Amino acid sequence: MESAPGAGLRRLIASKEMVKEAWMSIMIADNCISCGACLPECPNDAISEGDPIYVIDPDLCTECIGFHDEPQCAAVCPIDECCIPDPNYVETKEQLLAKKDRIHPNG
Ligand code: SF4
Ligand code: SF4
Repeated sequence: MESAPGAGLRRLIASKEMVKEAWMSIMIADNCISCGACLPECPNDAISEGDPIYVIDPDLCTECIGFHDEPQCAAVCPIDECCIPDPNYVETKEQLLAKKDRIHPNG
């Protein structure tokens, strides 16, 4: 039997959503060159200049949920594999949305 048009695409999207069950805070890896490009992009002010590399406060990182479709620090970072998921901070989408509401109580 032939699949309905778009069925393959819908299956692909569904599997991507299943993969995205595990949301994590983003962390900055040791290969950070401290360029500062990520700092102004964070909607939660979660990034700060550390010594010797920039750091992300996991209590403030929401993977940019509610603001952007992808983590903005990773999007602007010029270094590959520098802004990466932190396996020590696995959260659900609901937890991240609740965190976003806590950080931005006025929307
Ligand atoms: S993923 Fe978004 S919220 Fe988290 S540190 Fe990066 S820019 Fe900030
Ligand atoms: S954009 Fe990347 S390399 Fe630059 S400070 Fe941020 S994490 Fe480090």
